[in-house]
Amino acid sequence: MAAESRPRKLPPSDEAARRSESAPPPPVASAAPPAPTERPPASARPPLPFLLDFFPLEGPEHTRLSAFYDELRRRRFTTTRCSGCGQLHWPPRVACPACHSESLGWVELPTTGRIYAFSAVLAGAPLGLEGDVPFAVGLVDLDGVPLRIFGRIDGRPWPELHVGDPVRVVPYDLPDGRAFYRFEVVP
Ligand SMILES: [Zn+2]
Repeated sequence: MAAESRPRKLPPSDEAARRSESAPPPPVASAAPPAPTERPPASARPPLPFLLDFFPLEGPEHTRLSAFYDELRRRRFTTTRCSGCGQLHWPPRVACPACHSESLGWVELPTTGRIYAFSAVLAGAPLGLEGDVPFAVGLVDLDGVPLRIFGRIDGRPWPELHVGDPVRVVPYDLPDGRAFYRFEVVP
């Protein structure tokens, strides 16, 4: 009869026993921690935990956008433009967010613009910038391109900044050889 061929429903205690029999054994705890010699040498570790480093890792071993930082060191401010649909990107991309093409070219950006909005860092600055407090950060509309870019704004005390003030892009070098940019109010 069909009813006899169906698996018999076990009472709850038997079900639990069967599950425990078929379950894989628990992992065996390691008897001892890894020997110190298994850790990578200090030279293979980054000097600062990545999340505590305010500036990006810029080398080609860390990012496919290393050309952007190479150009910054040459005092050129660049980004990518899609060869497929023509969209100008910010930040630079490795694939176009509009059409997903990976055929992108580098283009030089204008280095002047106007403050769209700003705020001031009064406390809680990132590591390495604590001594700069207070300083201004804001969004800048670059001249002639549809890009609104975030960055630090120097050149004037923040209480004296105004929306619409003209600024310019200032690339600068970090002590460890990396480069970054900030904005400076045009006097
Ligand atoms: Zn595109």
